[in-house]
Amino acid sequence: MTGCWHPTPNFTKGRTQAVHWIIVHSTRGGSNDDYTATINWFANPVSQVSSHVLIARDGREARFVADEDTAWHAGAHNPYTLGLEFEQATADTPFTDGQLAKGAEQCHNWLEKFGDIAIVGHENTPQGIQGGKSDPGYLFDWSHFMEMIMADTEARQSIAILKQQESLKAAVGDNDMGVLIARLQYFGVLPVVTVKKPKLDGT
Ligand SMILES: [Zn+2]
Repeated sequence: MTGCWHPTPNFTKGRTQAVHWIIVHSTRGGSNDDYTATINWFANPVSQVSSHVLIARDGREARFVADEDTAWHAGAHNPYTLGLEFEQATADTPFTDGQLAKGAEQCHNWLEKFGDIAIVGHENTPQGIQGGKSDPGYLFDWSHFMEMIMADTEARQSIAILKQQESLKAAVGDNDMGVLIARLQYFGVLPVVTVKKPKLDGT
């Protein structure tokens, strides 16, 4: 787990149902530092909202609620979902490549932890539709985002197998996946994964 922990009173300890979905949100606070504004909003008991993770436009990551606890981000869906927020001041603010990459990394960590769970936009959930939600919205490049998650997951699956080999364990630290990926790519064991640049022109 990466990212800084920030306290919030707005969550329920534990879960009443198994995790089925990751719900993707964007903050839409209208501030030019919506990352900090959202951290403060989640810390405020008046807001009655939180999420598990928030990703800033520059890739910084804030954590609020443990995966095993229930964040308050999508009403009736809360008990069986993980909340992933992306900083986005307004519906017309583009997401950044680094931000999407960080979010994809978080999603594949959750996929590895919870198994086969769906990733859905808040705007496409029954609660979101009912509440008129439009996040993460038209600038969120789903195909690019899913491509990043799957590419990364495939790489991790290969590494999970290769990690069993003592020679590789001896060669790199167990937890240093970045170094391990780079070495395996260097030796041609893994392909170098390339992804398309996201559209950042606001089209
Ligand atoms: Zn939302």
